[in-house]
Amino acid sequence: MQAQDLKPYWKNYINGKFVDGGAGRLDVDNPGNGLKLAEQALANANDVDQAVAAARDCYDSHVLADMRPVERGRLVKKIGDYLLDNIDEISSVLCLEAGKPYWEAYEEIANSARYFEYYGNQAETLEGRSIPLGKNYYDFTVYEPRGVSAQIIPWNYPMEMTARGLAAALTTANAVVIKTPELDPLTHYYYAKAVEYAGLPDGAVNIICGIGHDAGAALAAHPGVDQIVFTGSVPTGIAIARAAAQNIVPCILELGGKSAAIVHADANIDNLIESVRWGIYYNAGQVCSAMSRMIVHDDIHDQVVERVVSLAKSLTVSPGIEQREAGLNMGAMISEKQRDRAERLVAEARSNGAKIATGGHRLNNNGYFLEPTVLTGIQRNMNIAQTEIFGPVLSVMKYSKDQDAIDIANHSDYGLVGGVFTQDIDKAMQMARQVRSGQIFVNEWYAGGVETPFGGYKKSGYGREKGREALMNYVQTKNIAIRIQH
Ligand code: NAD
Repeated sequence: MQAQDLKPYWKNYINGKFVDGGAGRLDVDNPGNGLKLAEQALANANDVDQAVAAARDCYDSHVLADMRPVERGRLVKKIGDYLLDNIDEISSVLCLEAGKPYWEAYEEIANSARYFEYYGNQAETLEGRSIPLGKNYYDFTVYEPRGVSAQIIPWNYPMEMTARGLAAALTTANAVVIKTPELDPLTHYYYAKAVEYAGLPDGAVNIICGIGHDAGAALAAHPGVDQIVFTGSVPTGIAIARAAAQNIVPCILELGGKSAAIVHADANIDNLIESVRWGIYYNAGQVCSAMSRMIVHDDIHDQVVERVVSLAKSLTVSPGIEQREAGLNMGAMISEKQRDRAERLVAEARSNGAKIATGGHRLNNNGYFLEPTVLTGIQRNMNIAQTEIFGPVLSVMKYSKDQDAIDIANHSDYGLVGGVFTQDIDKAMQMARQVRSGQIFVNEWYAGGVETPFGGYKKSGYGREKGREALMNYVQTKNIAIRIQH
């Protein structure tokens, strides 16, 4: 599918119907060439009210909660089936609106489907426990859904971030309102189609696109919402946490990162380079858990920099729709604004003493491209070492003593993930203990999957998504105590 084949207008989805938005329409661009792709219905606060009311009605009907869990799990899995059955078309739309290579979009849709398989399979495994209270009582716990789950989604992995929360929320019988990202909302249309295909009741899943400070804020503050799931930036996370506090509802915050790989002198360099390829150049570095800092032992610093620079130079950078096969290629950044910001941060680092080993500039075309970039000579306090760039920019730092490497890695407001590259398992384990982040990769950046819990320490947020842990965010525990007469 090419840009000209896309339908010109994409609607929101409330209570089982495709609807216009009270705030009109929004233009969606193709980051690969800067041209308008299509228009998206834009929700206002009134649409938010309707979506929350539809979700509330569905939840109050108990239709999902009353089902035998295995049946509910089958419905959830059918959403994933629909994504896989239509993966070519969905990947094309995602690739065009998000700027990522087609094969990366394809992987995102396959990974999204995987969440519905993983959580759907667990629908019948959530069991309470019985608590002994002595001869006169029977006591047991049950897990009940929270109610209406509001999910606010970022643009970097729009389909996968929605899959993560939606699959867990439906598996546990919640009803959901999704606020899609303004920059690449179109692909969410296929979730509405998937929900219809699966046969979910009206109102179980409502999908609206709206401006963050308008429809997003209205959703976060809505008194009809029982839980907020947010993935995005720290400032918005703070606003969401405030709104949640006002209504005394829990929220899960998955925020940013400035994650570091510590590279020991004995690291396997080939493995490391493979990890760098994924760690900072996948999705053009627009990944919350990107390897944006690399802390390399003095002894191998120059050798590693040489290899990383040659990797960066080997990447072909072009519109995602031209990149069908997985390989050494990279797409556009999401917007002109994001690209310009990353380029500016690199220029600022250079004026503060960093060396641009390669890259650092936009491409000379109309798309939102930045060259794969490697910076050296970075000191821990520099802005480039502290600020999340959210682009294909790797900052390389040096260390000589192990404790310094750990201190540098921890010298960040964030704590999402971290990595250690060494062939010494003792060293790896010591570092894994001391680095303050929610996940540690040893010898492979992004090792893990939908099965492994994910979330941040410090300003990277709180709560965990993915894995078994995440399911517990979507339920509340009820205790039932029974007095027995003898
Ligand atoms: P953002 O915070 O600007 O927007 C995220 C979402 O929040 C969007 O849907 C937006 O419309 C909405 N929003 C904005 N203002 C709002 C408000 N006042 N009230 C309610 N909703 C509002 O973030 P972004 O630029 O879309 O995404 C990039 C950020 O997300 C990065 O910092 C990145 O690290 C983070 N991120 C984190 C994870 C994770 O799992 N930890 C995953 C992806 C992205």
